[in-house]
Amino acid sequence: MTQFSTLLVANRGEIACRVMRTARRMGLKTVAVYSDADANARHVREADEAVRIGPASARESYLDIEAVIGAAKRTGAGAIHPGYGFLSENGAFVEALDTAGIVFVGPPASAIAAMGDKSAAKARMADAGVPLVPGYHGADQDDALLKAEADKIGYPVLLKASAGGGGKGMRVVESSDNFQAALDGCRRESQAAFGDQRMLIEKYLTQPRHVEVQVFCDSHGNGVYLFERDCSVQRRHQKVLEEAPAPGMSEGLRREMGAAAVRAAKEIGYVGAGTVEFLLDADGSFYFMEMNTRLQVEHPVTEMITGQDLVEWQLRVAMGEALPCTQDELTITGHSFEARLYAEDPEQDFLPATGRLERFAMDLEGAGLGSSQKDRAKVRLDSGVETGDVVSMHYDPMLAKLIVHGDDREQALATLNRALAALDVQGVVTNRAFLQRLATHPAFRNAELDTRFIEKNEATLF
Ligand code: ADP
Repeated sequence: MTQFSTLLVANRGEIACRVMRTARRMGLKTVAVYSDADANARHVREADEAVRIGPASARESYLDIEAVIGAAKRTGAGAIHPGYGFLSENGAFVEALDTAGIVFVGPPASAIAAMGDKSAAKARMADAGVPLVPGYHGADQDDALLKAEADKIGYPVLLKASAGGGGKGMRVVESSDNFQAALDGCRRESQAAFGDQRMLIEKYLTQPRHVEVQVFCDSHGNGVYLFERDCSVQRRHQKVLEEAPAPGMSEGLRREMGAAAVRAAKEIGYVGAGTVEFLLDADGSFYFMEMNTRLQVEHPVTEMITGQDLVEWQLRVAMGEALPCTQDELTITGHSFEARLYAEDPEQDFLPATGRLERFAMDLEGAGLGSSQKDRAKVRLDSGVETGDVVSMHYDPMLAKLIVHGDDREQALATLNRALAALDVQGVVTNRAFLQRLATHPAFRNAELDTRFIEKNEATLF
């Protein structure tokens, strides 16, 4: 057992607050870190202790490995939870923690590295028998060979930077004639963003859904899946609305995808919370896309349908405990949605918005959502801000996540709409009205989901 009694959270905003909530409940002392821009932030106010780690720039604060480890040493923190983003998938950070004798609440550096490169990850997954999108992910990067591979796959194809992430270095190629120009462009973009020109090629699926599986492994060789989330509603590859379970999944497909995801995790010696992302085609075929080696933004929808606290699982696994339950003990109850509330202006091409929050509240009773304990359990607001807080331009503009639960999809969606209406945010422009248009859209109500949902429904969403 690796006991620790103090946990440092190397993050900010809603995820720092959310991780500390569970840590407190488990009796751990919490330490926050903050940049100058966050000196009065909510995560700092809620922590037992807080340490300044640098100026506003993330590079000089939340991404500064030395500063974060220095803060842990100074406060006697035995473990660090990285949240998502920032240092959460940084192998060098994990190695530095190992050297310092501080527990990283996450997978081993070797597992992060195995999934860090898309081409290498696909080769490993093929070995593990995880289905891949038809394509090429070899080391030979000769122009003529790549073109021949693309011709063989059949157009449209998708060129992807091996080192890519965040949707960068990715291009759809419609026909053989356009291949060379697209390849040149993609290589330039990838070189500039990642200092690496290697490409992989995939068959471009025209109407896939993004369905991801939550997996968990402990350090004793146990691994389970906590079912799937549908995250098809995306804007520029950024998730906007997520739900669990994925509508229309048969029990057989769910088991098959779950088993493939656990196989993927075990192949790379995974420990902790991870997400295996798949593309799901209209005919029920699914293909491995990538594995995110951290807790995801959208983890709460999984918590709502399973009744489990994933951060508690992470902390227990980090302490060396076995998983709290077996696959057979996990079940799905009802349906859950998450809507991401961003400080951004949909009227101005989603430009990030800043300012002082004159009011940030949710009036559930006023929205007819009731006041009993049972009613309250249907709605969860994971927020990094409160009334009076200032939203700056330094970090990700996500203010909060609104998560709801219902007995079925229809009830959960009705609750989502009421809860969105109950949100009262003043002083900073948000995407709330856009979320409401999405959540009331007939195509969304009918679960006509694919990754181009927003694009396809543009005329009725804007
Ligand atoms: P990144 O790591 O840059 O986020 P991903 O490989 O995860 O890139 O892909 C991001 C998104 O691009 C997916 O969520 C999906 O919407 C789309 N996508 C990726 N691969 C394909 C494909 N072969 N066909 C169609 N869409 C794809």
